[in-house]
Amino acid sequence: MYTKRLISFIQDYYQSKDFIPLHAPTFVGNEKKYVLDTLDSTFVSSVGSYVNDFEVNIAKFTQSRFAIATVNGTAALHTALYLSGVQSGELVITQALTFVATCNAISYLGAKPVFVDVNTETLGLCPVALLSFIEEQCEVREQKCFHKNGERIRAAVVMHTFGHPAKVDELKKVCQDNFIELIEDAAESLGTLYKGQHTGTFSSLSALSFNGNKVITTGGGGMLLCSDEKVAAHAKHITTTAKQPHAFEFYHDELAFNYRMPNLNAALGCAQLEKLPEFIESKRALASLYQSELANTPLKFIVEPENARSNYWLNAILCPSKEHRDILLAETNNAGVMTRPVWQLMHTLPMFKESLCGNLNNSIFLAERLVNIPSSVLLTKEL
Ligand SMILES: *Cc1c(COP(=O)(O)O)cnc(C)c1O
Repeated sequence: MYTKRLISFIQDYYQSKDFIPLHAPTFVGNEKKYVLDTLDSTFVSSVGSYVNDFEVNIAKFTQSRFAIATVNGTAALHTALYLSGVQSGELVITQALTFVATCNAISYLGAKPVFVDVNTETLGLCPVALLSFIEEQCEVREQKCFHKNGERIRAAVVMHTFGHPAKVDELKKVCQDNFIELIEDAAESLGTLYKGQHTGTFSSLSALSFNGNKVITTGGGGMLLCSDEKVAAHAKHITTTAKQPHAFEFYHDELAFNYRMPNLNAALGCAQLEKLPEFIESKRALASLYQSELANTPLKFIVEPENARSNYWLNAILCPSKEHRDILLAETNNAGVMTRPVWQLMHTLPMFKESLCGNLNNSIFLAERLVNIPSSVLLTKEL
């Protein structure tokens, strides 16, 4: 019954009986103008004014001290972990309920993810679960945190799921008390505030993504947010092959990456960023419509946690059971309304199945029941 009602609500909202995607990008501003400008100037690649402008504007928007543009969010995460000093053979705590990029970035350094449970309200890493994992399985020696198997836990990555902020201040405290570097995977939470502060600025290093399905897109792209001037300079250096500036000589002073965002993509990003406040307003309005539509049904609409102003990147509902979820997925997708389950938990994927895990009861509960529902921005709607 309410699945049918939900389907017609979504079709009415998007005024379409055709296929309705989960999240399509919106290009209604200066996108064409800026992109064509890069073609006219021939500066389409890793040098150009849009890359610098995009960095400055993202830093301004998020109130981050520094921002370094990268080819994608995974590259930004990889760089953040690299700059935190994560070494091969070390452990990095993160959540099993995340997109695979979080764990891939950890593995690129030869480090291993360790999975700790999420909070059912925020869907992000739970500070209580983190603390009990550390108390039960770890010990601090000489200002370093070790798992009882002897491996060092260098860092923890929290992910702000679907744009809802995790309890990042509490996580930071647990990490600081135990000599673990906290990194935010803020790929989904551009525009999200926690206690009035932009996500991604609680940790000294964090990553944003501008993939095609994110709040704003550069086609593919990412950004490293950074609070320390020296680290920011180093980040820029190692994401641009560590080449020392010279008119014609090629001298690279350390092993580095080719991760710089091209100007072509940054041009798109500059135009998208101009529209971000409107996008977020529209997404928040849609979320509030979903919330009233789903009130008094067995489907629980996921609302922003306490102390949060969420960007509502991807709206989500919690079904009463896995069986219920599977029926809802089938019915909506058959009707051309795209919905999807949350990602399969990371510790069940072949490359991470040997990982150390804490108690993952909440993650397992959520993974069986969460469904994402269409969330594209619609600017024609009166807000
Ligand atoms: C999108 C995303 C990323 C980064 O993805 P890219 O496609 O590499 O930009 C990282 N983590 C999470 C949780 C994401 O959703």
